[in-house]
Amino acid sequence: MSWWLDRCSIDHVVLERGDIANSWKTERWDSLRLLTPNWQSRLPGYGYQGSDPDGFRTMPETISFIEGYAGAMAAPVRTHTTVTSVRKHDDGYEVSTDQGNWKCETVVLATGACNIPTIPAVAAAVPATIRTLTPLQYRKPDQLEDGGVLVVGASASGVQIADEIQRSGRPVTLAVGEHVRVPRVYRGKDIKWWMDASGVLDQRFDEVDDIVRARHVPSLQLAGYADRRSIDLNSLTAIGVKPVGRVAGVNDGKAQFSGSLRNVCALADLKMNRLLGTIDEWARDHGQDVDVDPPHRFDATVVEESPPLLLDLARGKIKTIIWATGFRPDFSWLDVPVLDHKGNIRHDGGVVADSPGLYLLGLPFLRRRKSSLIDGVGDDARDLSAHLAAYLRDRVLSRPEMIAARG
Ligand SMILES: Cc1cc2nc3c(=O)[nH]c(=O)nc-3n(C[C@H](O)[C@H](O)[C@H](O)COP(=O)(O)OP(=O)(O)OC[C@H]3O[C@@H](n4cnc5c(N)ncnc54)[C@H](O)[C@@H]3O)c2cc1C
Repeated sequence: MSWWLDRCSIDHVVLERGDIANSWKTERWDSLRLLTPNWQSRLPGYGYQGSDPDGFRTMPETISFIEGYAGAMAAPVRTHTTVTSVRKHDDGYEVSTDQGNWKCETVVLATGACNIPTIPAVAAAVPATIRTLTPLQYRKPDQLEDGGVLVVGASASGVQIADEIQRSGRPVTLAVGEHVRVPRVYRGKDIKWWMDASGVLDQRFDEVDDIVRARHVPSLQLAGYADRRSIDLNSLTAIGVKPVGRVAGVNDGKAQFSGSLRNVCALADLKMNRLLGTIDEWARDHGQDVDVDPPHRFDATVVEESPPLLLDLARGKIKTIIWATGFRPDFSWLDVPVLDHKGNIRHDGGVVADSPGLYLLGLPFLRRRKSSLIDGVGDDARDLSAHLAAYLRDRVLSRPEMIAARG
């Protein structure tokens, strides 16, 4: 956004509570690599320059990349400045921070989609003897006591964490709800290449049938392993992870799992095949199926005959629970009445409703399917900066002296 505002010659400042790339420095586990290939971190005016476009960045590499961008564009970032409140002031906004206050005509809320882990209410009934962590607190398997681990959630974070904990010798039970299965590589090319080239990631928020639903689709079961292997329930079962249904309750020291495991897996397989079908069709129609492998399908997810419906947490086999059940943004500091009854900001593609001059960036499917990816923010910021520039221009033109000057 700062890059685009600069292009529009709009004075601005970027306030950051930590250092540049704070979330990547402080909220990610040690072994994490981006699940998007290096080429797919295209920021406005800045892309991958190295010799491994198909590789996956480690956290230190990701941090260098973001720091490099801020430096290259000389972004006006004020680090260690925490915003504690944003409220309406005259016909603009007052932004309070622990480093003083700002008055401004417009504010862009770009504080991230993953500030607070979403933990189901049943977590409150987990026996106190069991340690519970979220992906924001998890760093590496050695941080955990020896013994069994229940990982709840089988999307990107859950499957990656389950994989490395199981490989560390701690037996993992994985509670699986709705998830999105995709192969890392299809027909010899990265799945992200296909999704990008075929336009799947560019699908717009005003084109989908149910945008509320689209904004809540779980992240892909995908990891950026150097050997490009896929990660899914079959690969996890092969190393000994035990999949069970989603956690439905915790009662009397026992976790209860839903009986829906088979169904959610069948649905994920079906949707994966639908995506691969879309890719095949696109490849055929656009002459992209010449130098690639022929279409093929992957084995269906294998689910055991009767997955357990109960796990006795109190008997000592489970030492740790990791709630990999998603994240939500934190707008607790926003003192502008723009939240709906669920605590989500009411907005139209990032233009906040009923609060002119307030914008939102970096949330899932904000304006496009790729909106919450590093690669997606540039297009969204371009659109929103154009809206913001027009808003400022209209304000100037509506001043009495301007109206008088126009006669
Ligand atoms: C585990 C995990 C893995 C991911 N992997 C990928 C991937 O492989 N590829 C990809 O493209 N995307 C990935 N993402 C998504 C990724 O987070 C986004 O692409 C990207 O970080 C979004 O950038 P952002 O600036 O919008 O949000 P963030 O990176 O979260 O940055 C928001 C910033 O706002 C600051 N902030 C928050 N509140 C305040 C406040 N009150 N005052 C001042 N500053 C504040 C924070 O300190 C933070 O630096 C992943 C996310 C997670 C959680």
